[in-house]
Amino acid sequence: MDQITTGKFIAERRKARGLTQRELADLLNISDKTVSKWERGGGLPEVSLMLPLCKELDISVNELLSGKKLSDSEYKQNAEDNILSLIQEERAKTKFQTIIAVIVVVATFFAGLTLIMLSGFLEMKTLYRILLIVIGAVVILTGIGVAVALEITCGAFECRKCGHRFVPSVGAYLMGIHTATTRLLKCPKCKKTSWCARRMSLSTEEKENNQNA
Ligand SMILES: [Zn+2]
Repeated sequence: MDQITTGKFIAERRKARGLTQRELADLLNISDKTVSKWERGGGLPEVSLMLPLCKELDISVNELLSGKKLSDSEYKQNAEDNILSLIQEERAKTKFQTIIAVIVVVATFFAGLTLIMLSGFLEMKTLYRILLIVIGAVVILTGIGVAVALEITCGAFECRKCGHRFVPSVGAYLMGIHTATTRLLKCPKCKKTSWCARRMSLSTEEKENNQNA
């Protein structure tokens, strides 16, 4: 797997299909900066985008990762090599924080719930009962807060206007109107507000920064 070879192949196939970078980007609902990055070898398309991209370019994922059209005999060996490389890349972008966030929410939710239920079952003064309910509610809300903070830091968002990837502030994240995969956020680079797509990492940006350095 080689980003430069794959990038050149994407450009070649895009032109063969008579598409501009902009047109291909629109078909995939991403920014044309992202397409440009791929074609310059600045990063591989994310796994979630690979199938739609290959469909538009009329190639297989195996060919995309190999950076060329494959004969039947080459196909099997390349497929195995590519799958192994991809698994290694994805492991690096671990979803560890998301798992921790879920555990925090579940654990604090049940701890809080237990306190609230105890206040109903145990014999005690009304003041203590109310206090227990308040503490229970605070525990649950704190858990949700911690989980949201973890969720934000484990993912990045990609600006639709300029392709810049960034991690939003907690305030902006909570305030942003969202769908399952996108969120209305203001890009810190171009200052435009757009429906930013969630990305697992800042990696494309980091790679590009490294290349510029
Ligand atoms: Zn931007």
